[in-house]
Amino acid sequence: MTRREEEGRYQMLWDCPACGAEKLLGLDHRFCPACGSPQDPELRYFPSDDDKVAVDDHPYHGADKVCPACDTPNSAASDFCEACGSPLDDAAAAKQRQRKVTAEGERFDGESGSDAKREARERKQAAKEARLREMQGVGPEPAGPPKKSFGNSKLGMACFSIIALALGIGMVFCCLSWLWSTTSDVTVQGHEWERTIQVEAYGPTTKRAWRNEVPAGARDLRCTQEKRSTKRVKDGEECKTVREDKGDGTFAQIQECKPKYRKEPVYDDRCRYTIDTWSVTRTEEAKGQGLEPRWPTVQIRGTQEREGRRNAVYRVRLLDEDGQQHTCDLSEARWRGLKPNQKIEATFGGLTGAIDCSSLSP
Ligand SMILES: [Zn+2]
Ligand SMILES: [Zn+2]
Repeated sequence: MTRREEEGRYQMLWDCPACGAEKLLGLDHRFCPACGSPQDPELRYFPSDDDKVAVDDHPYHGADKVCPACDTPNSAASDFCEACGSPLDDAAAAKQRQRKVTAEGERFDGESGSDAKREARERKQAAKEARLREMQGVGPEPAGPPKKSFGNSKLGMACFSIIALALGIGMVFCCLSWLWSTTSDVTVQGHEWERTIQVEAYGPTTKRAWRNEVPAGARDLRCTQEKRSTKRVKDGEECKTVREDKGDGTFAQIQECKPKYRKEPVYDDRCRYTIDTWSVTRTEEAKGQGLEPRWPTVQIRGTQEREGRRNAVYRVRLLDEDGQQHTCDLSEARWRGLKPNQKIEATFGGLTGAIDCSSLSP
């Protein structure tokens, strides 16, 4: 996804801590030209665009080896320290500065020796803390299960609190409504029923669909362009300039580019069409009181009509002990199971006072 292109190699800079000479070159000045002090690779810094000194045809062997005897940085290709002659077999690689990023077209102001010092200090501090944590981890603590539990992290604590709070509120609410819900007798006052049958007719109907979804047999298509979806379209690149410390007194300036996208609407034909199909034209209804429901009579006119969906509602009217009326819609079997003037037990919601129709029991 990301395109990387190296634009050039340049020298890092360093300031001589002994004599104060500034902007010495990371690759050319391994020793201070004024006083001869060795370079500290950790204190190299990135120059501004104006101070950049290009490096041509410099073979890169890797980050410098720091002499374990005298701390002088040596090319990764050398076997012995050029300052003191010590072997470099166990030499550590020079620390590299963190990469610097600027937006495309923006100038880089450069750094100073103090930026490098601050970063070195922070790195040492972080390393010290990591060592300390490691020591505590394998210290005299009992070797029980790892203590890094969910509850240790701040996020974990926050999650835990929220869950506990939600559970608490839920339980309180549940308990209250359970405590406040009451049970009392109700009397069946009467039965009501309502039954419907839809009547469908075959004939022309107007419908809408995307052109590719218009069914066979459709006619009189009238289509207009409408937005159907969106798509991601590549829209150039977003670039930034990255400076990477190579650890040998040089840095690489790299252009990193990522593709950019924008959303674009996708249009398609939205069509209105006519098609012959079955559709509901009217609903026949029958309703009444008592326990003898019947279906409405349906007059079918010729072959262009047919019966469609059937629907039924069975309702009881109930009177509670306070003289309040309630209604419950039930299944046909439960509805038939209740007799007029029968006394049954019902539960009423504590918070709402509404009857719980699923609670009716003889
Ligand atoms: Zn010096
Ligand atoms: Zn040395």
